[in-house]
Amino acid sequence: MKSFQQYIGGDFEDGETQFDSLDPATGAVWARMPEASVSDVNRAVDSAEQAFLGSEWAGMTATARGKLLMRLADLISQNAPHLAELETRDTGKIIRETSAQIAYVADYYRYYAGLADKIQGAHLPIDKPDMEVWLRREPIGVVAAIVPWNSQLFLSAVKIGPALAAGCTVVLKASEDGPAPMLEFARIFEQAGFPKGVLNVITGGPAVGATLTSHAKVAHVAFTGGPETARHIVRNSADNLASTSLELGGKSPLIVFDDADLESAVNAQISGVFAATGQSCVSGSRLVVHARIKDAFLARLTEKAEAIVIGAPGDMATEIGPLCTVRQQENSVRLTEQSVAQGARLITGGQILERDGFYFPPTILDCDPAPEAACLSNEFFGPVLSVVSFQDEGEAIEIANNTQFGLASGLFTRDLTRAHRMIRAIRAGIVWVNTYRAVSPIAPFGGHGLSGHGREGGIEAALDYTKIKSVWLRTSDAPIPDPFVMR
Ligand code: NAD
Repeated sequence: MKSFQQYIGGDFEDGETQFDSLDPATGAVWARMPEASVSDVNRAVDSAEQAFLGSEWAGMTATARGKLLMRLADLISQNAPHLAELETRDTGKIIRETSAQIAYVADYYRYYAGLADKIQGAHLPIDKPDMEVWLRREPIGVVAAIVPWNSQLFLSAVKIGPALAAGCTVVLKASEDGPAPMLEFARIFEQAGFPKGVLNVITGGPAVGATLTSHAKVAHVAFTGGPETARHIVRNSADNLASTSLELGGKSPLIVFDDADLESAVNAQISGVFAATGQSCVSGSRLVVHARIKDAFLARLTEKAEAIVIGAPGDMATEIGPLCTVRQQENSVRLTEQSVAQGARLITGGQILERDGFYFPPTILDCDPAPEAACLSNEFFGPVLSVVSFQDEGEAIEIANNTQFGLASGLFTRDLTRAHRMIRAIRAGIVWVNTYRAVSPIAPFGGHGLSGHGREGGIEAALDYTKIKSVWLRTSDAPIPDPFVMR
């Protein structure tokens, strides 16, 4: 059986205890993973702190940091097929997506490699003639990065890239569900030539995450996961007073007006909710469609949904693979059954497939008969779409904003003035107009409300890993005037 190692202080270790990792496509154990102990977490944080304070990293120019990140990006590109296969094997995410996504992962590191020596302070036109005042932008310190099981290479790149560009050091806790790609990533990171301890990669469940995020030496927690876990992290930060950035889930609406290009909108909806087997934080899991086109739209959507190729995640032809865990499968069944019991009409899917592994089929629920159904407010993190129709723009906005989340949204219309009104009215961190599920290292990504706070991607993300130091330099040689008065 394959076994993986954790990465602490530049060394690869088995860990005192190990746990089994399941292949989501079969449900069988395929690998052994190291479970970080409390002492492992402490050693990982200590090594990150030593690297942060040590002259090799702290004394390195930002340009040199950028070059190391560029080398890392190139190594990721060279190892792309291997990393994509491991992510597919351990998490069930289809190879079609992991192989495409690994190219973005390298691009995110390239973007932050280029940004490293452009993170700069400022000179202030201070209101005192004998003073020069400027701001230094310094790295915030040791960062604890916590990622969920879906897209770990990607979700860690949006944390490690800006954190290292800013000069921080990182302890990354990979998800206990499917940590293989991150533990393998550590081997590639090692080859890039960073000083020891700049990145440490451990894994394990909630207890390991709690020990790490509440550690006294952690200055910032960058978290992606669910809102309940985020609450634990915020409570823990009462002890170490670490700053936090929280990328949480969503119940994102895709709004389709009756003037939309229907074929494009249907494809966007397929991509929005069925790509990545619905295990995407930006899943467009609420279709908000104009009543006049609802039937035609649903007929075309259902036809396409029923033609989706369900299969082994490692097969390039597969469009929907298994969910990552049996928990996710049970969650999809439970919420679908609850919603149907509340009056939602099952249009397609809804039943567990008769095959091994944690599969759940593309499912569509018409919620017009049940506007309070559980599927409209709860995140499935599976391939399940809830549909509601509207009569006019005002009602579309009301339905779209009727959620505690606020991560993403989509809008399909050919009417430019309406698009602008809607962009202003929708409460979400991302609005995609006549498209859906597009990302780039250049564009910030994040939400508000139960979807969290802080941004990943773009320049903003790198600034989150810095703190400002104000420097005052007196230019006069004259004695300091009245020492009992603040200047
Ligand atoms: P989760 O919150 O259960 O776990 C996420 C991570 O947190 C895991 O590594 C887990 O071990 C760790 N963790 C659990 N308890 C902890 C604690 N008390 N302290 C510290 N760490 C702890 O989430 P999940 O079920 O693995 O992932 C699904 C969730 O992630 C969904 O809600 C989804 O929408 C969200 N997500 C968000 C984004 C985004 O960018 N906004 C992207 C992907 C996934």
